[in-house]
Amino acid sequence: MKIGIVGTGMVGSSAAFAMALRGTASEIVLVDRNADLASAHAQDISHAVPFARAVTVRAGDYADLAGARIVVLAAGVGQKPGETRLALLGRNAAVFRQVVEQLMPVVPDALFLIASNPVDLMTYAVRRFSGLPASRVIGSGTILDTARFRVLVGEHLGIAPRSVHAYVLGEHGDSEVAVWSSAMAGNVPLEAFAAQTGRTLTADKRAEISDAVRNAAYTIISGKGSTYYGIGAGLARIAEAIGADERAVLSVSTVTADVEGIEDVPLSLPRIVGAEGVTAELRPDLDADERAALRKSAETIAALKPAIDE
Ligand code: ADP
Repeated sequence: MKIGIVGTGMVGSSAAFAMALRGTASEIVLVDRNADLASAHAQDISHAVPFARAVTVRAGDYADLAGARIVVLAAGVGQKPGETRLALLGRNAAVFRQVVEQLMPVVPDALFLIASNPVDLMTYAVRRFSGLPASRVIGSGTILDTARFRVLVGEHLGIAPRSVHAYVLGEHGDSEVAVWSSAMAGNVPLEAFAAQTGRTLTADKRAEISDAVRNAAYTIISGKGSTYYGIGAGLARIAEAIGADERAVLSVSTVTADVEGIEDVPLSLPRIVGAEGVTAELRPDLDADERAALRKSAETIAALKPAIDE
């Protein structure tokens, strides 16, 4: 599978590195406005190939993306310390309009995987600028928040994060919703798991974990400027689900017809991801507070759509 990555800053290059290590693609083409940067990353990553999987990694321009099954969009301007993801919107939308215009003639059949923030609105923007069906324009959304949630719950309960079945839904950002009510350890509800194993899962502890998940990006940015390894691995995971037609259930963002009465809104739900992109969305049972929070998250995102529509 050939994968193109447009924007090879920290996120795009980390995605390429994760894909090379995991054997996600047979060919990876890196495109950046800064051609020297793309070329340097391509060389550096290709030097890891003898220790990784068989893959060709090279830099190129838009024409070199022809035949790519997936194009990752990670171009744009990074989040500054203290800046919300939503504040990035205007700057990144302008970049994306230009990028999508250049991509469409070259890769009319590709799936687009959006990583730039604010990712839900950038997903909406690409859908709008490209005219593609929502199933083929996939934002990384809360795939990383879900991973962070599973890590923290797993650490607290003393089990592997892979055995924690729990999702963060809604916006990839401040209004995201960590769904506790249906979260499971294996196939045991978390409350029951905690009781059976003598661990406590108080309301305070749950709030502490939800806050840590929500604030993880801010914490990491204050320490090292930006976040990239986690999202890089998450992008590789989504690409694998597409490449192998896995029909994996992943929390990713697409433009959704109706979320709690809010129409045409891009946000994350658990979705089935395979060769055709997102083929279905799941509607997990939510308690009243989670339902209200998801509606609020949808409203928060929808309020910013006019910035792209105009
Ligand atoms: P992040 O942490 O989100 O990866 P970076 O600033 O490290 O942010 O990377 C963003 C990358 O996007 C930069 O390498 C920049 O050169 C690139 N970029 C910006 N605008 C464009 C564009 N129009 N086309 C291609 N690449 C772009």
